[in-house]
Amino acid sequence: MTYTILLTCKHTVTDSEPRCTGQKHYCRLCCDFKIAVRLVNVKSISCFNCRFARSYGSSEVEAVRAASSHLSRYPDHSIALRSDRVLVETLDGLNVGSRLIAVLRQANAGHQTSLKNLALGTRQLELGE
Ligand SMILES: [Zn+2]
Ligand SMILES: [Zn+2]
Repeated sequence: MTYTILLTCKHTVTDSEPRCTGQKHYCRLCCDFKIAVRLVNVKSISCFNCRFARSYGSSEVEAVRAASSHLSRYPDHSIALRSDRVLVETLDGLNVGSRLIAVLRQANAGHQTSLKNLALGTRQLELGE
């Protein structure tokens, strides 16, 4: 699982563990250790009909996949997909299949472009965006 962590220098780093506030991370752009502010881009799912709820770091694929397996077991349930606690979409037995295909396709196609976007995003941050 990948977590995106915002640092005091406004750059982000990714880590396999949700190490958060107060911890030092090495920022490759600043070439220095910076303090983590908070986790960003955290995907979470929670079921409206039962107590099923989980967080998935930055991986939308994992979140949607888990929602899909829950919905295949309980087709009459519906699940809230959130990013940083903001509701993105409500998934149910009817739409979860096509949503899963879409995120998987995006994840495969976006592997190279996401690296480019990441570089672009950090450049914007350096310019004070
Ligand atoms: Zn930095
Ligand atoms: Zn449920």
